[in-house]
Amino acid sequence: MTEAQAGRIGIMGGTFDPIHYGHLVVAEAAREAFSLEKIIFVPAGIPPHKAKEEVTPARHRYLMTLLAIMSNPYFEISRVDLDRGGVTYTVDTLADLKSQLPPAVQMYFITGADAILEILSWKSPDQVLSMAEFIAVTRPGYGLDQLSQAIGPLYAEFRDRIHILEVPPVGLSSTGLRRRLVEGRSIRYLVPETVVAYINNEGLYGTSPER
Ligand code: NAP
Repeated sequence: MTEAQAGRIGIMGGTFDPIHYGHLVVAEAAREAFSLEKIIFVPAGIPPHKAKEEVTPARHRYLMTLLAIMSNPYFEISRVDLDRGGVTYTVDTLADLKSQLPPAVQMYFITGADAILEILSWKSPDQVLSMAEFIAVTRPGYGLDQLSQAIGPLYAEFRDRIHILEVPPVGLSSTGLRRRLVEGRSIRYLVPETVVAYINNEGLYGTSPER
């Protein structure tokens, strides 16, 4: 494994409703592959693409994320999106983080490859791509062709700043986990034990509070 390079920081934005091992595996894989100094997990306020959905209150998503990452010394958490409030746009996330980090830091925004295909629908995509390099995480076999077709001229302009990272598929989604919980099924070994305990203690996702 290569040594971490000072000044390279991964940003893992997400709704994390709830956080699961898929998110953690992706973050750790990106840290290793791109020699990142650390990864900052940034729970979203109201995600723009989920504004009509019921999202679990921010304090619970923040605490579940904190519990999930605390055993990894390279993982940190930021409240920038929660403290700003309202709908979370990545352009604002990156601007706030940049103002808190040393000026020479290069940010790497880690995201699912599907999300980057939709980046043209995000607020100020060119600014977003200027502020951070992107690590688009995908299943093996995904090509850059799709990406260049989907984002067209932006791809030509920013191709050196968009990286594809193939990670073995972890068949987990937050939607699938919420469904399991509503059905009274176990999520043990799919999310960290600390998160399972938090969900049960707080009675989230239709579980019965243990108080
Ligand atoms: P999420 O569902 O909580 O997931 C976080 C990230 O982990 C996503 O990139 C997701 O990719 C990936 N992921 C989840 N499960 C995975 C698995 N099993 N294997 C591999 N990757 C997995 O987060 P989200 O709601 O999509 O939001 C992601 C970030 O993008 C947030 O910071 C949000 O604010 C930002 N965003 C911004 C805009 C905007 O500025 N207009 C619009 C949309 C999103 P997949 O989605 O591919 O699963």
